Amino acid sequence: MSEKALLFNKNAEKVAFDKEHRQKINFNISQYEKAVEKGKQQYDQLETAKQRASNIKHKTLAQLDKYLVEFETNFTRNGGKVLWARHAEEAVTLIMKLLKNEKIKKVVKSKSMTTEEIKLNENLEKQGIQTLETDLGEFIVQLAGEKPYHIVTPAMHKSKEDVAALFHQKFDTDSESTAEQITAFIRNLLREEFQEAGAGITGANFLLADIGGIALTENEGNGLMSMAFPKIHIVVAGIEKMLPSVEDLDLFWPLLATHGTGQTMTVYNSIVTGASRNLENTSQMVVVLLDNGRSKLLEKSRQRAALSCIRCGACLNVCPVYKNIGGYTYDSTYTGPIGSVITPHMQDMKDYKHLSFASSLCGACTEVCPVKIPLHELLLLNRAQTVSEAWTLPAERFVMKNSTRVLNNRKLLDFAGAGTKNMMLKYFFASQWGNRRTLPKFAKKSFNQLWREQNS
Ligand code: SF4
Repeated sequence: MSEKALLFNKNAEKVAFDKEHRQKINFNISQYEKAVEKGKQQYDQLETAKQRASNIKHKTLAQLDKYLVEFETNFTRNGGKVLWARHAEEAVTLIMKLLKNEKIKKVVKSKSMTTEEIKLNENLEKQGIQTLETDLGEFIVQLAGEKPYHIVTPAMHKSKEDVAALFHQKFDTDSESTAEQITAFIRNLLREEFQEAGAGITGANFLLADIGGIALTENEGNGLMSMAFPKIHIVVAGIEKMLPSVEDLDLFWPLLATHGTGQTMTVYNSIVTGASRNLENTSQMVVVLLDNGRSKLLEKSRQRAALSCIRCGACLNVCPVYKNIGGYTYDSTYTGPIGSVITPHMQDMKDYKHLSFASSLCGACTEVCPVKIPLHELLLLNRAQTVSEAWTLPAERFVMKNSTRVLNNRKLLDFAGAGTKNMMLKYFFASQWGNRRTLPKFAKKSFNQLWREQNS
């Protein structure tokens, strides 16, 4: 078992029995569920909308090379610049170069999982560049020295009392501050930072090939400020975020809002096709297109469907495993069912293959996904890949091969009595079965014996 898998098991055990954690997650997810139920009422035919979205993403992925070039051509024509990054290190180097050229010492950021993926904050801080998260949830986890817990709700694991205590500790605010007081405090604090920052870094919910622009959706307006105030706007986007046309947004924006937060539409939806215009024309907009393992996943004819993901987070919220073990146990940027599908491909199969097994395969994730990604089937494909590429342990392969042989042969299966079979079961499977459930037992008499006795 890899070190990461051992750590995963250890943390999963710990978090699953942490009652306080469970209480907070259950409360926050129950609020989400109520909102989603309401949000879905805007649809007469939700299934049709989901199928249309799935078809568009499928078509886009099949011709991603064409759409990427179209995006670059149109965005460059608009006055922007496109940089291509094959992996995380390259993306960081490109961004560093841009910031150093402009002698920028401070950047403001809006929420972006892609920048988490390339560990942008840590890398910029190492080079003496201050980064400030401006999304409320991201600001809270940054202040606490933590990573986002959830791809849409970074501070989902904190109650409002936890947040008030954190702000009291860091800023000496009232330890019983209300959510409104905390929000007002941050708003004042950030306003100056937006004006001082040399660059604003955002993600993109969608890349729009036909107009050469990005679509950014958010609830707080901090993304808009990050784009508008600083003289450089840097966008970090995975290549899979592509949509063929700006007209596709009328389908994707409501789907993302409803499944992400239960809103009919997110509050601020921006389409940006170039740098903000000022008299001196000194602003720049740069889009860094990130591969970082996505092409590898695109090569797989079935698993590539995972690249359709619009990062709404719905599959995390319905997943019984995620709700029990929490976001941090995954030890990866993308968590929950979608994280378990893509991380072994985007990172390393050897280190992250165990995530594909962290699922009950109940199919709730597949059912809820707004772009119809067959998540539980993709988890099975990942599992099959770990076997066909021999990522499993030799002892496991030995046991599976011989068990298959025995189970497929009635004579071999009935060769030994129940006592011997139970002993074998205990010896070979007890540790995998875990100590919290009772190992099944073979009946004293086999089905064959009973059949013969009762029909003689
Ligand atoms: S896999 Fe589907 S449900 Fe999960 S985050 Fe992506 S789009 Fe949402």
